[in-house]
Amino acid sequence: MYEENYSVMVRVHEIALKGKNRPMFFNQLVKNLRKALSGTGVVAINRRHMSVEVILAPENSWPEIADRIRTVFGVVKFYRCHKVAPTMDAIKDFLRSEIPRLNFRDFRVVSKRGDKSFPFTSPQLNHELGAMVQRMCEAEVNLSNPEVSIFVEIQPREALVYFEEMPGPGGLPVGVSGSVLALLSGGIDSPVAALRMLKRGCRVTFVHFHSFPLVDGTSKEKALELVELLNKFQFQAGLVMIPFGDVQRDIILSAPPAYRVVVYRRFMFRIAQYLALAVGSHALVTGESVGQVGSQTLENIASVRSVVGMPILSPLIGTDKQEIVDEARSLGSYDISIIPDQDCCTLFVPKHPVTRSTTEEVDRIESALDIDALVEKAISGGDMTYTGLGKGYSRVSLMEVI
Ligand code: ATP
Ligand code: MG
Repeated sequence: MYEENYSVMVRVHEIALKGKNRPMFFNQLVKNLRKALSGTGVVAINRRHMSVEVILAPENSWPEIADRIRTVFGVVKFYRCHKVAPTMDAIKDFLRSEIPRLNFRDFRVVSKRGDKSFPFTSPQLNHELGAMVQRMCEAEVNLSNPEVSIFVEIQPREALVYFEEMPGPGGLPVGVSGSVLALLSGGIDSPVAALRMLKRGCRVTFVHFHSFPLVDGTSKEKALELVELLNKFQFQAGLVMIPFGDVQRDIILSAPPAYRVVVYRRFMFRIAQYLALAVGSHALVTGESVGQVGSQTLENIASVRSVVGMPILSPLIGTDKQEIVDEARSLGSYDISIIPDQDCCTLFVPKHPVTRSTTEEVDRIESALDIDALVEKAISGGDMTYTGLGKGYSRVSLMEVI
């Protein structure tokens, strides 16, 4: 009989602290939960003071619902609870009907009195309900590591009773922090970097540079698959593909082999900045990590970044490779990232590229190139793929978008 009163309480932490912006944060969280949970047997999703309530239909698929809530950033924890009348008798009645269904040797009661007019304090509730449960099933009380916790939350119009709290992913709801453009290579690091920014509430658009048809199209396919995987967290995204082979051909005519990677990177960043400004992104995102490879020494990072004015965010900058790999595995991107491909930056590049370039040197090397013309040429050959969660994709020429 209590099934009809099932609902899920979604708790927030950081977003509750955002003062005047709080309504905006909650609106976005509710919107994201609605999208994430569509088609799973949910009747309504409403803000309730400092939490969000998901009201479940009698026919619902709880494991699926829990899995999907775990992809919604901004959720700190959630629990499926029963709602009963806010009286000691009603809570006891409910526990009498429910306890026999749970099998446990020890337990604890954790009460919270949100409505201070309720005639019992939290310790009194713990004591009274605990004594009743002990009489019913002869289980021991264990406050530190019980098999079952009985949570009771007293609110003005109802009491919530539940037995399990589940951790959410934390972070901020995607959409509250504005939009960024992530440089997605098809390697292990850049999808993890994008995930970190999604977790901080950014919407992410992606750009991938490829040397197709000088090399095969594997890196393009990987980039698309990675974006589709990340859609779990933001539902839809745009992926810009930039053909980079022509730019590279011009670069190799004037750049000594050891400097080509640095010059390729500078062009990627210039093109990315152009795109970011055109699509309304406020920052670029990369998967760089100091010292991980020769192109990521502080000197090379500095001479590459000197060509763009907008912020470049590299959330993995101080993260070890193993930690990044662990994160990629739990995201599910690792298996896609390790599929062998031909990275455009390895084209026409010697085994040992320069590790300590200076901005002045690279500026001098580039002085023979018509930089703006190359940037524009690369962009004019690009396209934008829109992908939606489970909805396939559509592709348009970049010139129609920017
Ligand atoms: P990743 O695992 O993300 O490829 P990496 O450790 O291989 O990173 P690099 O190849 O030096 O590092 O690339 C550094 C960053 O530059 C990448 O994380 C990515 O953000 C960007 N980048 C490199 N190659 C490309 C590409 N072909 N298209 C888009 N972005 C790229
Ligand atoms: Mg790479």
